[in-house]
Amino acid sequence: MTGARVPILMYHAVAADPDDATRTLSVTPEAFAEQMAVLADGGRTPLTTAELAARWRTGRPLPVRPVLITFDDGYEGVHRHALPALAGHGFPATLFVTTGWVRGAHDTGGAPDTMLDWRQVRGLADNGVEIGGHSHTHPQLDQLDDARLRAELTRCRDVVAGELGAPPESFAYPYGYSSRRVRTAVRGQGFAQALAVGNALARRAQGPYALRRVTVRRTTGAEEFERLVDGREIGRTFARDRALTKGYAVVRRTRRLRRTV
Ligand SMILES: [Zn+2]
Repeated sequence: MTGARVPILMYHAVAADPDDATRTLSVTPEAFAEQMAVLADGGRTPLTTAELAARWRTGRPLPVRPVLITFDDGYEGVHRHALPALAGHGFPATLFVTTGWVRGAHDTGGAPDTMLDWRQVRGLADNGVEIGGHSHTHPQLDQLDDARLRAELTRCRDVVAGELGAPPESFAYPYGYSSRRVRTAVRGQGFAQALAVGNALARRAQGPYALRRVTVRRTTGAEEFERLVDGREIGRTFARDRALTKGYAVVRRTRRLRRTV
């Protein structure tokens, strides 16, 4: 199964009435519950990020029809709405916290919506949710100098370690942005794997610091969700992009021909 393609679903807020800043990338509690039911009906086996990466690292086989459920930033609805739905199916998941946005002792302000507090984060961890890092203040990491990059990663790691009793093993790049320098720094801070974005299924060949995810949005309907999980929606999007590229190539050739006339 070395060529296995694994859907890693990327969620943000789960909320009935999110802030404008988080609305597009949010899902309603009802849609989230419905999507978890789709995974259960489809015989999917959710894994944490650390578990998937460990299996790919050691060559241990994956379960049948694997899937990853991940949440970025740390919105309160992950505890209030997503956790009951996850627990109902016994599904593990991964939450990537922006440590400076979590309500409490390390709060730097600037969070885009109502966030979890550390008691809720611990509650998630106690119920099968892996807690990963997502930086301290959510900057574009590839735009930072070395010192600030390192500070974002160490602060995030140390806050999670202090609040949960163990350092985080997995990381998700804010906005999905990384570079070779960022990936090296993330590895240097002890993270064993990291997730990007990219709207493709994850494969072992992508490497442990550039695993791709697919985005679930407020507009993602039930059928589109099934296509996303199966990788079929991605194929369609890809085909659409390729058709556009091809069309553009024809236009450029036509222009070139005209010029030569
Ligand atoms: Zn984020």
